[in-house]
Amino acid sequence: MPGNNKGSGVYTATLIEGDGIGPDVVGAALQVLEAARAPIRWEPMLVGQRAYERTGALLPAGVLASIKRNRIALKGPLTTPVGEGMPSLNVRLRKELDLYACVRPVRSLPGVPALYADVNLTVIRENTEDLYAGIEHEIIPGVVESLKIITKAASLRIARFAFLHVRQAGYRTVTAIHKANIMKLSDGLFLDCCRQTAREFADIQYTEVIVDNACMKLVMHPHAFGVLLTPNLYGDILSDLAAGLGVVPGANIGDESAVFEAVHGSWPEAAAQGIANPTALILTAAMMLRYLGEEERARAVEGAVRCALAEGIHITPDLGGTATTQDFTDAVIRCLGRVGQQPAGAGK
Ligand code: NAD
Repeated sequence: MPGNNKGSGVYTATLIEGDGIGPDVVGAALQVLEAARAPIRWEPMLVGQRAYERTGALLPAGVLASIKRNRIALKGPLTTPVGEGMPSLNVRLRKELDLYACVRPVRSLPGVPALYADVNLTVIRENTEDLYAGIEHEIIPGVVESLKIITKAASLRIARFAFLHVRQAGYRTVTAIHKANIMKLSDGLFLDCCRQTAREFADIQYTEVIVDNACMKLVMHPHAFGVLLTPNLYGDILSDLAAGLGVVPGANIGDESAVFEAVHGSWPEAAAQGIANPTALILTAAMMLRYLGEEERARAVEGAVRCALAEGIHITPDLGGTATTQDFTDAVIRCLGRVGQQPAGAGK
């Protein structure tokens, strides 16, 4: 990985368990990483309500310092109350660390019911601006304004990231998603930047689709897509449209650091009940291994997840089974033993 901290043969990574089902699914991923003998030492950090109770801050300065130092973090979901109240800690983390690229690979998995087989696409979403800039105010009672910020610098940066990702991940196409027919200036600027970048990558097929049409095409012809390149809001919605919630991994990547987290949220009602599907968090851990250069271990973990899902014996309730989070985790670990566990120190 670019500039991590593997001095003594071991990486140090920040660990944020998160809220709700966070500790359940993060705990599952840690067990799998340990079984894969991933050379990672964890630096646990509290964020959110539990951090507030101990330190008086929802996002203590030590957390940002830890991620900046380690340059890598594994994170469970954090609860953000709807409406008034605390701002999203997820958005703050992404903005403060300038994690400008949100990467969400959506792939068919054996044993996971879906409309189509063999789907393989990735949503790459600009992560720092758009309506998520959070600039809102009340003009007069009953009238509020929310500002959509799109900049040339951020749009060019995410476009370049997406085109480079096409090459790295073996895709052939980039599809820019927009609503420039209505938001001619903001989405128009985003599109201009995508087109400008596309001219530098003449070997990669480039197309544009309006966001509502993209929703329909994703439901009817998902195989038409490789990388979807989107501003912040459209990417958030489209990745959930394309995803099964408990099974899709994700990463927030910047030039200086990266925070790995699943697409799903904290599902507070299911906290500590042992019913959460840890697939997304385990696959997220595999993405993190790949980012660290631990390709063989990443493949082994992904293979073990596919193996456990394909067996179909220890399946969590969201996929129609009765297994607990721990049952499924144990099945993944057993599969890991069969699909090629790495000896300590290998894979680098
Ligand atoms: P959610 O993903 O938490 O839950 C929606 C539904 O998806 C659940 O009812 C459940 O049926 C299913 N689901 C989610 N994760 C699952 C899993 N691992 N296994 C099985 N089923 C699963 O979304 P929400 O209800 O919209 O949000 C709840 C909280 O999570 C909110 O406070 C929201 O802000 C937060 N959130 C955080 C993040 C993050 O930290 N990155 C992302 C999204 C939402």
